[in-house]
Amino acid sequence: MDSTYQRMSDLQLPDLIQGILNGERAFLSRGITLVESKKAEDQRLSAQLMDQMIQKKPESLRIGITGVPGVGKSTFIDAFGTMLTGMGKKVAVLSVDPSSNRSKGSILGDKTRMEHLSKDPNAFIRPSASGNSLGGITSKTREAILLCEVAGFDVVIVATVGVGQNEAVVKEVVDYFLLLMLAGSGDELQGIKRGIMEMADHILINKADQGNVKAAKQAQKNYENIMPLLPPNEADWKVPVDLCSAIEKMGIENAWEDIKKYKEKTCQTGWFMENRKRQLLKWFHRRIQSKLEENFYTRPDIKDEIRKKEALISAQKISVRKAVDGLFNA
Ligand code: GDP
Repeated sequence: MDSTYQRMSDLQLPDLIQGILNGERAFLSRGITLVESKKAEDQRLSAQLMDQMIQKKPESLRIGITGVPGVGKSTFIDAFGTMLTGMGKKVAVLSVDPSSNRSKGSILGDKTRMEHLSKDPNAFIRPSASGNSLGGITSKTREAILLCEVAGFDVVIVATVGVGQNEAVVKEVVDYFLLLMLAGSGDELQGIKRGIMEMADHILINKADQGNVKAAKQAQKNYENIMPLLPPNEADWKVPVDLCSAIEKMGIENAWEDIKKYKEKTCQTGWFMENRKRQLLKWFHRRIQSKLEENFYTRPDIKDEIRKKEALISAQKISVRKAVDGLFNA
C-alpha cells in the first residue's frame, strides 16, 4: 500500500469531488486510486463518487494507442501529447496492462519515458490499471477516463502494450484506436495479430526516419494491400496507413488531423455517440459478470466445494457439467 492510499480513505467525499471538478491533479489521482481499490469501504465511496460524475457531460476525445514494446509508444505519446497541450488542450494519459503488475515495468510505469509530457502542467499521466480480470480492468479504466474528463481533460489517451488481449479492453473504452507499427522487422504482422489490425482506426508506421524511410514506405504499401482484406471498419471509415517518426515529430500533426476528421465524420453519421452508448452497455454487462464471479468465488462455503470437485474432475470421477451443476444446486 502506498501512502496516498492511506490518506485517501480519510478524505471527505465532497472535498474529493470538488477537487476533481477543479481539475486538481492530486485529487484526480486520489479519485482514481479510490475507484481502483478493492476495499469494501472504498468501493462504497467509489459508487457515490461515480454517481456524482455521471451528471456531468464532458466533451472529450478518447484515443487508444497500442503497439509492440519498443515500437515507440512512449515517444509518440510524448510528442503527440505535447503538441496537443501546445494547442491549449489538456491531455490525460492512462495505461492498461493486465499482464503485469504495477511494480514490474508496465508500459508507462516509468514516467521519464515521456520526458516533456510528464513535466507539462496541462498533462496528467497515470500508470497502469492492472488486475487479473478483463471486466475489472475495463471498469477501472472507464472510471479513470470519466474522472479525467470531469477534471477537464479534453483528450484522454489510453495506452497499452500490443501483445494480445489488452487491445480488446482498450478498444471497448475509446473512440479512436491507433496502432503503431514498425517497418522491416520480421514478418509482416510482427506478432501483432490480425485481430488487432481489424480493430485499428489508424495504422501509423513509426520510425520512418534515418535509414529506415524506404522500408517504412514499403511497409505502408504492404499494409495498404492488407486493409481491404479485413472486415470493413465499423465506423465506415477508411483506415489511414501513414508514416511517422515520433523522434523527429514527423507525421504527428497529420495523425491529429485524421483523428479530427474521424470525429467530425462519426459525429455527423451518429456513430460516435452510438459507439459510446454501446460501450456503456458492454461495460454494464461486463461489470455484472465480474460481480457474479466475485460473489461466487468469495462465498465461504464454495471454496471447499470447488476443491472437492477439482479432485473429482482430475480423477475423472465426475463430468465437468455435473460438477458445475452440483455447485449451483448446492
Ligand atoms: P515503447 O516501448 O513502445 O513505449 O517505445 P519507446 O517510446 O520507449 O521507444 C523505444 C525506442 O525506440 C527508444 O529508444 C526510442 O528512442 C526509439 N524511438 C521511438 N520512436 C522513434 C522514432 O520515431 N524513430 C527512431 N529512430 N527511434 C524511435
